[in-house]
Amino acid sequence: MRKFVGDTLLVATHNEGKLEEISALLAPFGVSVIGAAAKNLAEPEETEDSFVGNARIKAHAAARATGLPALSDDSGLEIDALDGAPGVYTADWAQTPNGRDFFMAMTKAHDKLVESGTARPWTARFCCTLVLAWPDGHDEVFPGTIDGQITWPMRGDQGHGYDPIFTPDGHEVTFAEMDRWEKNKLSHRANAFAKLVKGCFD
Ligand code: IMP
Repeated sequence: MRKFVGDTLLVATHNEGKLEEISALLAPFGVSVIGAAAKNLAEPEETEDSFVGNARIKAHAAARATGLPALSDDSGLEIDALDGAPGVYTADWAQTPNGRDFFMAMTKAHDKLVESGTARPWTARFCCTLVLAWPDGHDEVFPGTIDGQITWPMRGDQGHGYDPIFTPDGHEVTFAEMDRWEKNKLSHRANAFAKLVKGCFD
């Protein structure tokens, strides 16, 4: 396992929320974090059919372009009764000509579950893969998941994306009914981050 040495990490995302979360997490290790937008990086096309494949595309493109170690995150929701869909297409299901509509995406997931005739519980998991890549082409991969089930009707107004229809195992409330602090302790991303920190930053 290669350790991160140096003081600047490029985070291969244009999402300010993700950037803020990652900066806070790595602050105790003396790492300063810069986002893709600050370096005018284009968003590469995500052409792979796996989280790790797409996370690798983003991390390696950013590391090559900047000469800095780069961290990327690719994530999504897998619903068992839909053979793992939407999976790597989780963000795409929300895409409209005017931006992302997660109410539409969650309704689509529910409609497909009803069409499938599958009885509840509708088991599912959120997945996150983090890739830390270096300019010489080396990388380290950290997957994280959280199991749960699809809840309908949707509940809660916290969080983002598909949070209102996901109830993690061992809990009665959806991610969108939890405060950010509680969700961030147990989420797929928290799980992958714990592995990243142990592997490369401790
Ligand atoms: P990415 O930017 O290609 O990784 O897209 C991941 C998509 O998965 C996002 O657009 C969200 O819709 C969804 N997603 C990932 N993590 C979460 C989460 O913690 N809550 C809700 N939705 C999530």
